[in-house]
Amino acid sequence: MSSLAERLAAVRARIHEAERRFARAPGSVTLLAVSKTQPAGRIREAAVAGQLCFGENYLQEALEKMAALTDLPQLEWHYIGPLQSNKTRRIAEHFHWVHSVDRLKLAQRLSEQRPAHLPPLHVCLQVNISGEASKSGMTLEELPTVAQAVAALPRLRLRGLMAIPAPAADFAAQRRPCAALRQALERLNAEFGLGLDTLSMGMSDDLEAAIAEGSTLVRIGTAIFGPRS
Ligand SMILES: *Cc1c(COP(=O)(O)O)cnc(C)c1O
Repeated sequence: MSSLAERLAAVRARIHEAERRFARAPGSVTLLAVSKTQPAGRIREAAVAGQLCFGENYLQEALEKMAALTDLPQLEWHYIGPLQSNKTRRIAEHFHWVHSVDRLKLAQRLSEQRPAHLPPLHVCLQVNISGEASKSGMTLEELPTVAQAVAALPRLRLRGLMAIPAPAADFAAQRRPCAALRQALERLNAEFGLGLDTLSMGMSDDLEAAIAEGSTLVRIGTAIFGPRS
């Protein structure tokens, strides 16, 4: 396995096998290719191999790559990096999705700044599911209040929840935080009728555990593009 197209095919095969093994509907898990630190040429190569959704963590880097790829208008851009208020305007102008909304204030800015000519911005709320002090994301306790407020913002479409669980040694330990995120989403839907349909969880090392627990979108960098320099 060496070419990007081969690694992409191998990741797609892992996803399909996990869907089968855990009785998930075929095609129910979307692959987001995480292209941070990868040059625009690598994104173009992945696009030629049929990959259309890309995740970026750093705004300036992402904008430069978007500018180099304007001849591929079918690409869908997801912002998955740290959010700060001085970045929300350009994120609202250039991305289709934001996965890392962890404060109501940032969601309000994204909604206010989403240009009128674009469809609503799809957002996920990031939850600090492993309870690590160093990680971003809101607590499970904050989630219901924030979710209801974000769902009411006019220029956003609240789609679901995102988490970056702490690395875990074995499969059972990988599944636990993913199960907790799924249960949080189920509670929001049951109690507030939010109709959330997206669980953004699973990376190169834990995508099978995430799919076992209901992930609908896995964010994969290393397994597609190789190690980051
Ligand atoms: C970098 C990153 C990924 C991809 O991680 P890999 O282990 O390289 O697959 C996924 N999600 C987020 C938020 C990231 O920052």
